[in-house]
Amino acid sequence: MEHPENSKEYKGLTVNSGVEQPSNINPYLKRGRYKHRRLSVNDYVEGIVKGDVTVLGQAVTLVESTNPEHQVQAQEVIEKCLPYSGRSIRVGISGVPGAGKSTSIDEFGLHVLKEHGGKLAVLAIDPSSERSKGSILGDKTRMEKLAVHPDSFIRPSPSAGSLGGVARKTRESIILCEAAGFDKIFVETVGVGQSETACHSMVDFFLLIQLAGTGDELQGIKRGIMEMADGIVINKCDGNNVDKCQLAAAQFRNALHLFPAPESGWTPQVLTYSGFYGLGIKEIWDMVYQYIDFVRANGYFEHRRNEQAKFWMYETINEHLRNSFYQNETIAQMLAAEERQVLEGRQTSFVAAKQLLDAYFALLH
Ligand code: GDP
Repeated sequence: MEHPENSKEYKGLTVNSGVEQPSNINPYLKRGRYKHRRLSVNDYVEGIVKGDVTVLGQAVTLVESTNPEHQVQAQEVIEKCLPYSGRSIRVGISGVPGAGKSTSIDEFGLHVLKEHGGKLAVLAIDPSSERSKGSILGDKTRMEKLAVHPDSFIRPSPSAGSLGGVARKTRESIILCEAAGFDKIFVETVGVGQSETACHSMVDFFLLIQLAGTGDELQGIKRGIMEMADGIVINKCDGNNVDKCQLAAAQFRNALHLFPAPESGWTPQVLTYSGFYGLGIKEIWDMVYQYIDFVRANGYFEHRRNEQAKFWMYETINEHLRNSFYQNETIAQMLAAEERQVLEGRQTSFVAAKQLLDAYFALLH
């Protein structure tokens, strides 16, 4: 059809009819989305051992998957990666939200990569991600500098399941990262509740980030957590906060004196720093490396890793037993009724529990 603008009214202007568009530029291109090729166990292991971070990322996703088929495959991958793992230093970093973990880890990471070379993986244990459906360690752009560093690998916390489940997945991811050549592992955790204990059970050095300011720093912090720390570092020691931080450091040092000497033979140190201004970072990492040398020399490094391996064996058994019980259909059906009876006071908790367990064990025979 003739274009209306080609009429005499629009002199000096002609509109050509366009070329016909082919339905597909590349006739060989098949329509539809590409399906991801599923990797075999050997593909995963080969990729990981070569240090391919894309494959490493996929393997971590496999470890985190709740699909039973994926879990079986993940266990095989982990087993084959085990001989390549273990050659790293693992540092746990804990602090309450706002303590400055992301800011600090960004600085810490850049420092260790610059001064000690190698490759750094940052993993996390954040049980809040399941409970609140919004994780504390992952809801913002964190560790901006480290995220674009070619020698770093950052993964947010696995989210599915109980704290034990989340922590186990993080521990398994450590093995994969080590097999991929990451010789420095940071495990970040939020300083709220049980997650520190889980983190402590998979690292060589446990670093606790604290803040000064309230004057009674020691009241809010649980004794057990302080006892776990191999180093306590007080952040935001900058501007007019310096005096307060130094006072807090002195208080922490005094408090540590009252604790029994740690099994490692190491005296936990208390330092001040500023993650934001990059002050005092070197001193912290000199301390961490000094500790590693110290415990390697006295045999505690090996001892702690062996104890951790044992701990995780029992943790895994417990988790499987729990899952086997709660995922059993008969038990699931009985549970609601038993629970109601307990709530209505028609049965004691212990009798109800015994009945459920008896029913479960009878099913096994
Ligand atoms: P996270 O929740 O523990 O990961 O803490 P962030 O790293 O997100 O830090 C919380 C807030 O404290 C942010 O507003 C940071 O800018 C601030 N912050 C972190 N480190 C320092 C520091 O060394 N000095 C000061 N003055 N502020 C800091």
